[in-house]
Amino acid sequence: MTQPSPAKQSSVAIIGGGPAGLMAAEVLANAGVRVELYDAMPSLGRKFLLAGVGGMNITHSEAKESFLSRYRERRAEIAHLLADFDADALRAWIHGLGIDTFVGTSGRVFPSDMKAAPLLRAWLKRLREAGVRLHTRSRWLGWNADGSLRLQTSDGEQALRADACVLALGGGSWARLGSDGAWVPLLERRGLSIAPLQPANCGFEVAGWSEHLRDKFAGAPLKNVALALDDEPARRGEFILTAKGVEGSLVYALSAAIRERINQAGSATLHLDLQPDRSLEKVSQLLAKPRGSRSMAKHLHSQLGLDGVKAALLRELTSPAQFADPALLAAAIKALPLTLLRPRPLDEAISSAGGVPFEQLDSNLMLRQLPGVFCAGEMLDWEAPTGGYLLTACFASGRAAGLGVLQWLNR
Ligand SMILES: Cc1cc2nc3c(=O)[nH]c(=O)nc-3n(C[C@H](O)[C@H](O)[C@H](O)COP(=O)(O)OP(=O)(O)OC[C@H]3O[C@@H](n4cnc5c(N)ncnc54)[C@H](O)[C@@H]3O)c2cc1C
Repeated sequence: MTQPSPAKQSSVAIIGGGPAGLMAAEVLANAGVRVELYDAMPSLGRKFLLAGVGGMNITHSEAKESFLSRYRERRAEIAHLLADFDADALRAWIHGLGIDTFVGTSGRVFPSDMKAAPLLRAWLKRLREAGVRLHTRSRWLGWNADGSLRLQTSDGEQALRADACVLALGGGSWARLGSDGAWVPLLERRGLSIAPLQPANCGFEVAGWSEHLRDKFAGAPLKNVALALDDEPARRGEFILTAKGVEGSLVYALSAAIRERINQAGSATLHLDLQPDRSLEKVSQLLAKPRGSRSMAKHLHSQLGLDGVKAALLRELTSPAQFADPALLAAAIKALPLTLLRPRPLDEAISSAGGVPFEQLDSNLMLRQLPGVFCAGEMLDWEAPTGGYLLTACFASGRAAGLGVLQWLNR
């Protein structure tokens, strides 16, 4: 008679019931391992559900090379994870849950109803049927001296023994949904050095808008504009003027570079092109047309269609002399300097940079210093823009950690 594999006689604790932890649980349960999953919150996948509120962008359909470039300095590490579970594999996996996907005009991939809740519901059902035991209101507090896991439950603190454990605790934003970054000191106490959690895909603050701009235009979108940091090619898109600065997809796309610049230099100056479809020559030509007794504001509107929040921002960021001089104003319209001083607080960010450095993990995502402890998801030190890249890497790392645990148990 053949003996069951060691993994099949083992029990694994997974801490964190977001996409990364649930994916690790699925891999292990499918291999016959006993899986107990714990989450501090009263229900699982709260941030995943929030991601579904504005339309769940689960992955992206662009070609592999440009997909991987989104992970910047961590391209190689994420490529290793995606080699086994890439965007196509993720889509096939979603289809396996009975949920269709579609590619939007921007190449982003969504579930057909754009929502996260049906997907999560179907997935949790399948996990339970596979034998995964899901425990909510169970907060991991670190380790006891004997190596057991400390868990705070409604019945008080418990010591938990497991043959291996996967930590999938998320980043440090939206603490009220569970990912509060409170795990950082717990790992530091075990001698790990964690890259500080920092806001990613976040808004930024300026020195202060005038009362007029803030009161009249906070919340207004600037559509079809381009932003550039230094000599980098300008990116087109849209962003939102906020009471304290700027936020929105175009700002998020540049947020890693902006944050790094602020960290180094104390501020970051971007150049905003308010008329990306017209050359400087064309804008200058149009503004140079005689305007008679019309105000410059009216001239801007009639010649360039510039009004509302765009015209107000132009006025805010130019001197009266610049605003009155067509040539200087044309230059400002094509490259309006916008200085950002600080990111908005981490808790407001869509995701966080920083976390457990890959250098402290082996290729199976096991902590080199803590054999049998694996890490996955946003708590690892990588970042990516919005566009489905965050969830794709969370799923792939959860799967890699699950497979890593299997290999380790069967070693
Ligand atoms: C507003 C918003 C919109 C987003 N939209 C998208 C999108 O469209 N596409 C995309 O790709 N990404 C999006 N994201 C990002 C995406 O949701 C996250 O990157 C992803 O959920 C991270 O998965 P995770 O499993 O690593 O961690 P999380 O989903 O954060 O899960 C971590 C889990 O660990 C639990 N936990 C933490 N500490 C403990 C502890 N000590 N003990 C027990 N449990 C603990 C938490 O309760 C939580 O359930 C969005 C995020 C936000 C905030």
